[in-house]
Amino acid sequence: APARPRKPDWLRVKLPVGEEYAAVRRLVDEHKLHTICESGNCPNMGECWGAGTATFMILGNICTRSCSFCAVATGRPTEYDLDEPRRVAEAIALMKVKHAVITSVNRDELKDRGASVWRETVVLTKQLSPGTTIETLIPDVKANWDALDVMISGGQEVISHNIETVGSLYRLVRPQARYDRSLEQIRRTKLAGHRTKSGIMLGLGEKADELYQAMDDLVANGLDILTLGQYLQPTRRHLDVAEFITPDQFAHYKEEGLRRGLKYVESGPLVRSSYHAERHVNVPV
Ligand code: SF4
Ligand code: SF4
Repeated sequence: APARPRKPDWLRVKLPVGEEYAAVRRLVDEHKLHTICESGNCPNMGECWGAGTATFMILGNICTRSCSFCAVATGRPTEYDLDEPRRVAEAIALMKVKHAVITSVNRDELKDRGASVWRETVVLTKQLSPGTTIETLIPDVKANWDALDVMISGGQEVISHNIETVGSLYRLVRPQARYDRSLEQIRRTKLAGHRTKSGIMLGLGEKADELYQAMDDLVANGLDILTLGQYLQPTRRHLDVAEFITPDQFAHYKEEGLRRGLKYVESGPLVRSSYHAERHVNVPV
């Protein structure tokens, strides 16, 4: 096997320490909440939690899917916790978050894909924190468009759905998802009048032309905001990194995305879909 590429210097990050970090830690634990920051081994925890922000993951921490890049556990979910929306809303209020990002696992086994819990979470968060803006990073509803309508109806300002990678890598990266179905979900979200956002991980072996094709497909389906970041292998059991994309290349992809009609592109090695998310609320769309 070829030698593993060494992690370049631009991926070195701050260690998670400090008072704000400890406060977020306490709130998450006391409210028995899950965060994708932890479940996804995000490299930005020092920065985000240190600034008093986190991305809550609702509907439990066991996912019905098994994307090969993702550190969230796969299995049969046991939690269907109708009190979770209240605890999330309360934690966001206590943290005085100005812009909250909420995501979830996939719940393919639920008829409504978890849409009612999603809606309740957004509605209660708005009730307790009327000044807080919300981004919901929602899962693939598997073409249950009625569920999508409910999921996006709580009053959130940004609705993201990550296509994660280029079409040719779907079987490898998102085996239970379909590229076209995710595009359609974005198109329907846009048609319902929302600010749309998506994300792609780079360094999985995609070619530049394939990335440009994905950008064009996203624009054609009404996407406003795109995040581009470096894929990092969460554990040795996950997909290998095929390539470390340089900061210059990320900058070039940003220009390319804007040229192709995206309204806003956040692009850099450490960019995650929830990174600097507060910047995306006011993008004119
Ligand atoms: Fe959490 Fe997102 Fe920040 Fe990572 S970038 S620590 S997932 S809020
Ligand atoms: Fe991870 Fe989301 Fe895939 Fe589930 S659907 S394995 S949470 S990326």
